[in-house]
Amino acid sequence: MTPLIDPFQRAINYLRVSVTDRCDFRCVYCMSENMTFLPKKELLTLEELDRMCSTFIGMGVEKLRITGGEPLVRRDIMTFFRAMTRHLEAGTLKELTLTTNGSQLERFADALYDAGVRRVNISLDTLDEQKFADITRWGRLPQVLKGIDAAQNAGLRVKINAVALKGFNEDELFTMTDWCASRDMDLTFIEVMPMGDIGNEDRLGQYWKLSELRDELRKQFTLTDLPERTGGPARYVRIEETGQKIGFITPLTHNFCESCNRVRLTCTGELFMCLGQEDNADLRSALRNHPDSNAPLEQAIRDAILRKPKGHDFDYSRQTVDGRVSRHMSHTGG
Ligand code: SAM
Ligand code: SF4
Repeated sequence: MTPLIDPFQRAINYLRVSVTDRCDFRCVYCMSENMTFLPKKELLTLEELDRMCSTFIGMGVEKLRITGGEPLVRRDIMTFFRAMTRHLEAGTLKELTLTTNGSQLERFADALYDAGVRRVNISLDTLDEQKFADITRWGRLPQVLKGIDAAQNAGLRVKINAVALKGFNEDELFTMTDWCASRDMDLTFIEVMPMGDIGNEDRLGQYWKLSELRDELRKQFTLTDLPERTGGPARYVRIEETGQKIGFITPLTHNFCESCNRVRLTCTGELFMCLGQEDNADLRSALRNHPDSNAPLEQAIRDAILRKPKGHDFDYSRQTVDGRVSRHMSHTGG
């Protein structure tokens, strides 16, 4: 089958899939305390998720990242992971991975490894129990630390993702870096993004420019830029003193769009061609209305890829949150 190429000659081989909008945490930058979640019938069933992902894999997607909401709170989600194993075994899918808050990993780490997952991204913004409870509202740090232990014991490679928040975890920059080094985990910092309407937080106050964070690191360490590119917004450096790799995800200050290789599927089957744009394609009807033929779904996917925009419109430069995207990160998947 012809691979998916967008109008700017970018090959689309990476699909991020949100399998639920629900979560057992309520991180302040992601959700409001009283979230209304989607009715269950709106969600793609596990069978539909399988059909959707398998169709994308048939069209050249080689990497799947499962996200949410919290992917591991979706009921029977391991059935879906195990279903994807066949594509790994066939060699058509090169990597199956997930982004999780870690709360359920103690339960699922071994099963994920058995399904063929080899790496996980675990989101963790602070190592302080009280601050952790404050930022996640419902999360408890010891549970996540146990999840990280379980993941490493199962043989999963762990990368920690920390959202950089001014006045919140600035003082933990070196503690977190050292902690990750001591456990042989990679660490990536994420700049906070203007997603969703989550109440009255002052987002500009939370914004901690990663170039400033990098300058802080430079005061203590020698940093070497790494050429590594993943087709996404992450850039990497190596800390020469420890050999550790540190990532920076800076969607607001850097333009990474020219090498973008990814699209995002929501838990209701909408395909977002760009994280920073509202345009999306409804793939669920193409799937549900044609239970016996994949051709309409394939056509809908091809049509959607032809609408992938050149880039995003986030812009903080005028001190207003221009280009704000109204949907929640938990809907599109981070
Ligand atoms: N629940 C899982 C987790 O927390 O890892 C997966 C979904 S979560 C939406 C994915 C990532 O998005 C997390 O690393 C989270 O910290 C990040 N995130 C959520 N809201 C964000 C925002 N407004 N700006 C930047 N990153 C955000
Ligand atoms: Fe849940 Fe992840 Fe959003 Fe936190 S960032 S509320 S863990 S979906």
